[in-house]
Amino acid sequence: MRIAINGLDDERFGRPLQNIANLFFEESEVFLTGLTEADITADFQLSLTDSILVSAKLHTIKLEQAESSYKTELPLASEKEQFKEIKKCVSYVFVDVLQQLTGIVQKWGILTGIRPTKLLHKKLQEGKSQEEAHAELREGYMISDEKIALMQNIVERQLAAVPDLYSVKDEVSIYIGIPFCPTKCAYCTFPAYAINGRQGSVNSFLGGLHYEMREIGNWLKERNIKITTVYYGGGTPTSITAEEMDMLYEEMYTSFPDVENIREITVEAGRPDTITPEKLTVLKKWKIDRISVNPQSYIPETLKAIGRHHTVEETIEKFHLSREKGMNNINMDLIIGLPGEGLPEFNVTLNETEKLMPESLTVHTLSFKRASEMTRNKQKYKVAPREEVERMMEAAESWTASHGYAPYYLYRQKNILGNLENVGYSVPGQESIYNIMIMEEVQSIIGLGCGAASKFMEPETGKITHFANPKDPKTYNDNFESYTKQKIEILEQLFAKDKDLKRKMPS
Ligand code: SF4
Repeated sequence: MRIAINGLDDERFGRPLQNIANLFFEESEVFLTGLTEADITADFQLSLTDSILVSAKLHTIKLEQAESSYKTELPLASEKEQFKEIKKCVSYVFVDVLQQLTGIVQKWGILTGIRPTKLLHKKLQEGKSQEEAHAELREGYMISDEKIALMQNIVERQLAAVPDLYSVKDEVSIYIGIPFCPTKCAYCTFPAYAINGRQGSVNSFLGGLHYEMREIGNWLKERNIKITTVYYGGGTPTSITAEEMDMLYEEMYTSFPDVENIREITVEAGRPDTITPEKLTVLKKWKIDRISVNPQSYIPETLKAIGRHHTVEETIEKFHLSREKGMNNINMDLIIGLPGEGLPEFNVTLNETEKLMPESLTVHTLSFKRASEMTRNKQKYKVAPREEVERMMEAAESWTASHGYAPYYLYRQKNILGNLENVGYSVPGQESIYNIMIMEEVQSIIGLGCGAASKFMEPETGKITHFANPKDPKTYNDNFESYTKQKIEILEQLFAKDKDLKRKMPS
């Protein structure tokens, strides 16, 4: 689908308009000017006085037509802020004409970003009442009442789980990336290397990771900075041996400040084929009781098709084993829209989940990420149509509600089936605090290990700086000292009392 946009020359409009077109069409390309042979042409008019007036007339090669306009005040603010508002108006009009043309209603309105709830938090933090904030989301962003209610629900749950959510910026969370898995799944884009035959590489990697934990832990102790949560992800952090896990957690207790009072420590035991009684005993020994055991689906053919290399029975068996060994906060990840699956298959998965009743459930919608095997061979994987994916999502919503779960975080992804979202549900009081921290971007998260992305947040302005550790173990092993040093330098500047130092923050 080739879409010509006339009347908007500023190239900064290109990306938002392309993101919106992607919500409506599987394959689309937006051209800002000069395209004569387009499937769709949108003629925009933009007028700026003390208000912003945007109108658009759209026509297609099949002679279909649509038009829309939107007017709002031009804020008295910087050029950047004003442009942001103009972009919002243009997006509004573009969504409106495409909705008229396709009949597809975008429940998230003009939002294409991945963190809708952050927007509601921001409005509430600015002192707006709930009604005012909701009205702005409805009228300025075209968000449906259904999604606004979902956002409100989530915001309330988050504030109940972390009452100091708006002031937790003086603490940090830690993410630890272990880049190994038993085998690589077809949809995976995480740093995950098949572990067999790589013991040498695992040993050197763990050496580097211990070093990072010691150095960062020391820095935190010196500055008297508390850790809110620790999350071991990857890869699959339970791919390494029980002894290696034992040493790693011992390192955490020795190096990190006040581990006894960290609010939550999670270990992704994602792949059931990595869970053993010995590893569960190690987790219990170090008082780690929040783990993830991820079925993704309870349909054997699906697990085979996506290359999970574990059976449905194994998931159930390892879940029970984890319970017996004292894991009392278990999360399970499910994926909607896996190849070959429709509503009947998803219902099977929900029925199986009912027999286990984990404390939390994360429901993902399949996304075709550019780097995955599944995307490279898209024609090989048959996925459900948009309407069916939507019905599966609704099934997840009503199933969780009737089984005592409530949504507590959500995020959206690009190229996600049906433009839906990923939602984390939990029984009250068992929300993952780390998930809330990462989604709402309320504090710095320091990434240690392979592929670990750090997000440094300036406590005063909320400005985020990203910093990525290398994804492959070899580069990590060769450079971990320098990566650690660079992170400490960034932290020094972030938490510096001296404003002059802060001004030199890299951007
Ligand atoms: S278990 Fe997770 S991290 Fe490992 S290959 Fe599969 S999707 Fe990737």
